[in-house]
Amino acid sequence: MSSKFYYDGITLDRAHHLRMDEKWLAENLSADPSGDLAGKNLRIIPVWRSKSLIFTGGQIQAAILTGRAAEEVRQNAATLVFLGLEGDTIYCAADLSHADDPHSLGLPADTAFEDLRGLATSLDPIDAGYLAYARAIIHWHLGHKFCGICGTETAVGRGGHERRCTNPDCARIHFPRTDPAVIMLVTHPSEEKCLLGHNKRFRGLTYSTIAGFVEPGEMLEQAVVREVFEETNIEVVDVAYQASQPWPFPASIMLGFRARAVTTEIICHDQELIDAKWFSRDEVHEMAKGDESLPPSNLSISRWLIDSWLFEK
Ligand SMILES: [Zn+2]
Repeated sequence: MSSKFYYDGITLDRAHHLRMDEKWLAENLSADPSGDLAGKNLRIIPVWRSKSLIFTGGQIQAAILTGRAAEEVRQNAATLVFLGLEGDTIYCAADLSHADDPHSLGLPADTAFEDLRGLATSLDPIDAGYLAYARAIIHWHLGHKFCGICGTETAVGRGGHERRCTNPDCARIHFPRTDPAVIMLVTHPSEEKCLLGHNKRFRGLTYSTIAGFVEPGEMLEQAVVREVFEETNIEVVDVAYQASQPWPFPASIMLGFRARAVTTEIICHDQELIDAKWFSRDEVHEMAKGDESLPPSNLSISRWLIDSWLFEK
């Protein structure tokens, strides 16, 4: 698999079997009382209240901690999640959200917690993928401290990949969730044009592909047809899957589609999408020259869907 987008490039082995290996987890994830780090090859990715740690000295860089700093954070983390292995290097996410001042917990001085979404393009794409994975799973833990069935506290299990209700009469196991969202490039029925919309949440005059969440009991293809119609009044057919992108803001995966319109009259029913138009290739090329008219390259599957239509002829 080659990387197309931000957040999709991490190559670590999620090592599912080790999540169930209590002995291995105890030896490798619990804090080392001797402080002896010999032989340990640990990388810790701290998360604080959904923000990611960045080295601020010089060029901005993801703070994936090693050595003494990693050990300090491991000992002080409210929750430690085993993310996986890269060779014999162990990657973990550490939740420091319980501290009002997370820097009191042993973080290097030249670091700061920042919103990953705002600075991802400044980071190495692989590092951004690690930070996204850590952010997403810690976000899930923060929202599932109590059982949704009986309200009792939950406890972390399987290296941080489940939370188990501590009420023995319930004992429900809760797993991390990912919300599927569809995102689609819609082509005109008879002209060389595509449908792009402007969402009121977009900053500047950006036009992008139509998108929306999949609903319970719905196929992905049905979600594409429904969302395009709901937002633009356009009916589509020939829905074809193209690619996907993890989008952990907070917990989505974007599933990219191409679809062909069979109607052309646009009506924006939706409160979110306040404008939508048919754009010719020349018009999209013109927008692509500007900095803010289209979503930025590489960051999002929306731009990839637009570009793959734009450059196919
Ligand atoms: Zn319960």
